Amino acid sequence: MESCLFCKIVSGEVPARKVYEDDAVLAFHDINPVAPFHVLVVPKVHVCGAAEGPGGEVWGAVMEGAVRVAELLGVNREGFRLVVNSGEQAGQTIPHLHVHVLAGRRFNWPPG
Ligand code: 5GP
Repeated sequence: MESCLFCKIVSGEVPARKVYEDDAVLAFHDINPVAPFHVLVVPKVHVCGAAEGPGGEVWGAVMEGAVRVAELLGVNREGFRLVVNSGEQAGQTIPHLHVHVLAGRRFNWPPG
């Protein structure tokens, strides 16, 4: 979608610090990190969010991408958190499906 920020990052129109890429997903550092490691994993196809029902192929690709990112960051053993915000009330600000990969500090439960 031409007006979508994350589609522009996928196409290279908007720069980002890439961590990982394959045929289906792109992973890049969040511009406003809330943890020592904060990477976003997005599908290359435009999907607005979880509520849209992305389907198993897209979910599989982004979740496998997220675990791959944790391995690449070297945090897969110490622990990491995966977050998907869906909808305005949950804190979703960019309407393109993304998984936050957060690591490098202790996280609270329940989340705020
Ligand atoms: P959400 O709030 O939708 O779950 O997450 C969107 C994330 O995108 C936020 O953590 C925000 O910091 C990040 N973000 C917003 N604009 C940009 C950008 O231009 N580049 C990058 N790399 N991250 C962005």
